[in-house]
Amino acid sequence: MKNNFEKKLIEIAKRVNIEIDENGAAIYRQYRNEIEIWNKKVNLTSIKDEEEFIVKHIIDSLMVLKKIEIPYGVKIIDIGTGAGFPGIPIKISRKDLNVYLLDSNKKKTDFLENAIKNLGLKETYVLYGRAENYGKNVHFREKFDYAFARAVSALNVLLELCLPFVKLGGFFVALKGKEPEEEIVQSRGVFEILGGELRDVIYYELPFEIKRSLVVVEKVGKTPEKYPRREGMPEKKPLFMK
Ligand code: SAH
Repeated sequence: MKNNFEKKLIEIAKRVNIEIDENGAAIYRQYRNEIEIWNKKVNLTSIKDEEEFIVKHIIDSLMVLKKIEIPYGVKIIDIGTGAGFPGIPIKISRKDLNVYLLDSNKKKTDFLENAIKNLGLKETYVLYGRAENYGKNVHFREKFDYAFARAVSALNVLLELCLPFVKLGGFFVALKGKEPEEEIVQSRGVFEILGGELRDVIYYELPFEIKRSLVVVEKVGKTPEKYPRREGMPEKKPLFMK
């Protein structure tokens, strides 16, 4: 029996041509329940309204899969994943992917550990710590086909935090708002410093005319050893070209 949340999710997803079946919808309901329970003690999301949760968290995350063709079975990382966006919805829809969820907030990674266990998600790994440190670790550096980040920082900061994780020929995709242009201009030159090349900016619309974009960066060269700089520096002194 589908409950209200599940019906609404399936219906709203259809409006943007995303197919969610009943099994999928039940997993999303459980995911939302987990978030609601934990939200009482850990600040996971400020979005309480059901419809808003569906659109701004679930659908927004799933739009990545509509717009980006991720090959079968590859390794992806969601940097600054928070309560799991976009990483968990991507995993729920694409069971074949190896998904790493990274966050520097222990309460959030505790939530994620618990959630992936309860949702029964396989090949999903939670990393607690800062991107600056994992990015320098040989086990994680240049090991991912795709890196994603939503609502973590400005693009020039994100490039330093995220590009080190991406393999040559892989991609970093930033989930951005309706007008990413200013951040792109501010990142001029920074792409090159870190071995990236701006490939595409994809504009799209969520239900209720909410506008978003994806900034797609290809890893075309190795990231120099000195990046990312030590903890806090990417944010404090963002790379910038005059
Ligand atoms: N991506 C989620 C959460 C955004 S909030 C969403 O869109 O809903 C930003 C998250 O990034 C926070 O949970 C914060 O702990 C994490 N974060 C910020 N800087 C980080 C860093 N340098 N390394 C790892 N996580 C970081």
